[in-house]
Amino acid sequence: MKRRKFIQNTSLGSLGVVAGATALACKSESEKEATTLATDKEEKNIPMVIATWEVPNAVSKAWSTLQEGRTALDAIEEGCKVEEADPENQSVGYGGLPDRDGNVTLDACIMNSKGDYGSVVYLQNIKHPISIARKVMEDTPHVLMAGMGAQQFALELGFEKENLLTEASKAAWEEWKKTSEYKPIINIENHDTIGMLAIDKDGNISGGCTTSGLAYKMAGRVGDSPIIGAGLFVDNEIGAATATGMGEEVLKTVGSFLIVELMRQGMSPQAACEEAVRRIVSKNPNHKDFQVGYIAVNKKGETGAYAIHEGFLATVHQNEKMKTYAPEYHLTGP
Ligand code: ASP
Repeated sequence: MKRRKFIQNTSLGSLGVVAGATALACKSESEKEATTLATDKEEKNIPMVIATWEVPNAVSKAWSTLQEGRTALDAIEEGCKVEEADPENQSVGYGGLPDRDGNVTLDACIMNSKGDYGSVVYLQNIKHPISIARKVMEDTPHVLMAGMGAQQFALELGFEKENLLTEASKAAWEEWKKTSEYKPIINIENHDTIGMLAIDKDGNISGGCTTSGLAYKMAGRVGDSPIIGAGLFVDNEIGAATATGMGEEVLKTVGSFLIVELMRQGMSPQAACEEAVRRIVSKNPNHKDFQVGYIAVNKKGETGAYAIHEGFLATVHQNEKMKTYAPEYHLTGP
C-alpha cells in the first residue's frame, strides 16, 4: 500500500492510548522483531539499510550499492534518488506536491560517517536534491545552501533544470485550492519523507533525508528534513536517526539528535525513538492531530522505529532479507 494511502486510512478515532510508563516499560513486538532481525547472526548485522515508509525500491537500490562494496554514503544517495525520481511519490522530488502557490520546493540533507553534513533548502526545478546536498558537503566550504543560490550551484554542476510539477500533483493542488484550507497541524496525510540510514561493510554509518515538505505549505516554509539534528543526525561512534512527519514538531525537539544522544546514554534504538516521540507528545497537547515518525540504528546495526500514530512503516534490509513493518503502536506520553 502506498504510504499516503496508508496514512489516509488511519482513523484518529481508532487510536488507543497507553500510559507512558507502561508503554515504555514493555518491549514492543516491533522492537523484538527489529532486534531479532539485527541479532540473528551478529556478524551479519551489517551492512544494513533502513528507511522510513514502504520504499522497497529505494532500499533495494541502497542495499545493492552496499553489495557492490561501495560506501554507506553512496548507498544513501543512490537509494534516496530512487524516490526523488518517482512521480508516484508525491512527497519527494519529481511529482512532489507544491506549496500553496503551486511551486515545488525541495529540502534534503546528507551526513557521512566523519560527521560532515550538506543540505539544500527551498530548492526548485532540480530533481535530485540529495545529490546537491552531497555536493554542498563535499565541494563547498558550506553546509547549507538555499533557494536560487542552491539552484545556481546545481546548474553549474551540470544538473538539469526541470519542471517538477506533474499533472497529477498540479491537479491535486488545484483541487486543494477550491477550499485553500491551510491546516498544517491536522493534515497528517500530507506528510511523508524518505529518511534513510545505512551501515556499510566497514561499519561506517551515513544518512540522508529528502522531501518536498508539507503539501500546500506557505511559500518559503522549510521543515525539519534538511536541518541537522532535527530531520537527520549521524554519529559514527553511536548510531543515526532520521524523521518523517510534522517537521515543526521535530524541529522544536531536535528529534534525531535527541535519539542519537539517548543511544549514547545506553538506550536501544527502539527505546530512543519511543522517548523522542514521547517528548513531542508530552509537550504538545495537539499531538492527536499530527504524525511524527522516527527510525534509528546503532553501531551494532540494531534498529528502532516509532511514531505518534499507527500507520507509520519502516523498510529494513539486513541479513540478506528486506521487509517493511509497522512498529507496534502504543502512544507514549502523559
Ligand atoms: N518532515 C517533512 C517536513 O516537515 C514532511 C514529511 O515528512 O513529509 O517538511
